[in-house]
Amino acid sequence: MFETVIGLEVHAQLQTQSKMFCGCATEFGSPANTRTCPVCLGLPGALPVVNQRAVEMAIRTGLALHCTVQSTNQFARKNYFYPDLPKGYQISQYDRPICENGWLELQANGTSKKVRIRRAHLEEDAGKNIHADAGSLVDLNRAGTPLIEIVTEPDMHSAEEVVSYLKSLRDVLMYIGVCDGNMEQGSLRCEPNLSLRPVGSDALGTKVELKNINSFKFVKDAIEYEIKRQTKVLSEGGTIHQETRLWDIERNQTAVMRSKEEAHDYRYFPDPDLVPLVIAEEWIEELRATIQELPKDRHQRFLRDYGLPDYDAGVLTSSRALADYFEACVTLFAEPKLISNFLMSEFLRELHQAGMTVESSPVSPERLVGLLQLVHDDTISLKVAKEIFPELFAGDKSAAQLVEEKGLRQLSDEGELLALIDAVIEQHPAQVAQYRGGKETVIGFLVGQAMKRSGGKANPQKVNALFKTRLAP
Ligand code: ADP
Ligand code: MG
Ligand code: ZN
Repeated sequence: MFETVIGLEVHAQLQTQSKMFCGCATEFGSPANTRTCPVCLGLPGALPVVNQRAVEMAIRTGLALHCTVQSTNQFARKNYFYPDLPKGYQISQYDRPICENGWLELQANGTSKKVRIRRAHLEEDAGKNIHADAGSLVDLNRAGTPLIEIVTEPDMHSAEEVVSYLKSLRDVLMYIGVCDGNMEQGSLRCEPNLSLRPVGSDALGTKVELKNINSFKFVKDAIEYEIKRQTKVLSEGGTIHQETRLWDIERNQTAVMRSKEEAHDYRYFPDPDLVPLVIAEEWIEELRATIQELPKDRHQRFLRDYGLPDYDAGVLTSSRALADYFEACVTLFAEPKLISNFLMSEFLRELHQAGMTVESSPVSPERLVGLLQLVHDDTISLKVAKEIFPELFAGDKSAAQLVEEKGLRQLSDEGELLALIDAVIEQHPAQVAQYRGGKETVIGFLVGQAMKRSGGKANPQKVNALFKTRLAP
């Protein structure tokens, strides 16, 4: 029996306007090689200058991940040859990364656990090789884009744990606004390191690094495949080779890309073009104040303060804007569950259909709450509220105005309801007799008839109750 051991390296593209060491724009999708300059082209003599905004984002990331921020930082050259790396080295950090020793919580098997974060360091991205029929081309627009690489300790033991960790990490990065979290476009790239060891053993087995994984589904598939592959090799008495393997989407398997290089292969050394970066304690404290409540904490608070089910709290805190919107509503009207239900269904659906975001919602918390108050005080039914919501959404009238104009006010007056009920009793003597004879389910039919007569406006709970007293022996 083997135990799976996994540590993760995640590269996140920082959402800065300009690159890590030059002023070129970082935007995605420009014509090839138009976002370049002597620095990111690696021309001789060009000198790098550190992007302060990238450092700021790295510090905020570290703080959100409970890391210690190092006051003295050093950039290092990681030397290797590849056509998308014109300098012949990548500027990264080696023995003095900006952030160290943090943790992030994940949820798996119904419990939560902390994954230790070993380090998070700043580095620059490489360009892109494009392999066409006629030959290979290189686009250096991405060269020099700031990245933060976040490395965990080997604390995870299943695909489920890794996926949960990644989702939490992505939430945090997006929440504090340092990364757009887009895995398909490569803004968030994940490389699991995976090994097996006999159950009960403390020593680590030989690991394999997995690359080319650009969705949560592939993370799961690649890890599960690799666990099976290594289990088979070890069970048959074979050995695992330390190597980098690529996930092959077509064939649903991992395949060797290269045997694993060791750190000394890269001949790391301090970049002489960049002096050590000293970070003032006051700056760190200033940035700490900008790290607001993180999604996980807010989720817990929503459970505690609003008594919401876990599912609701999860949906509502999945984006800061939605969580803010919800809280704005609750401040105006203390019915959290009614508000939550409506936001998760009608509200998100209308936004989605209109291709809008919560931030650009045409319905303010005030107008939405106005609608739900009418439901709460029985002026209209929930069904009517749902029906008129698209109009509330499309126009700028208040819910009360719409209800008046359309005559949708629910019929709750007891005298009027009794008149309806008596008419129904008179018209359906057979059903009335059945009910009196003990077939209580017939009440549904009678209520339905009364609702129909009222044009859907009668209050169904009241109608139901009045029928029961009217027909009581
Ligand atoms: P490398 O120098 O090959 O990149 P590191 O020691 O820096 O290796 O670790 C890289 C990642 O691999 C870390 O997330 C670490 O937790 C994980 N890791 C290291 N050894 C193992 C192992 N034997 N099995 C699984 N993961 C491992
Ligand atoms: Mg590695
Ligand atoms: Zn440049």
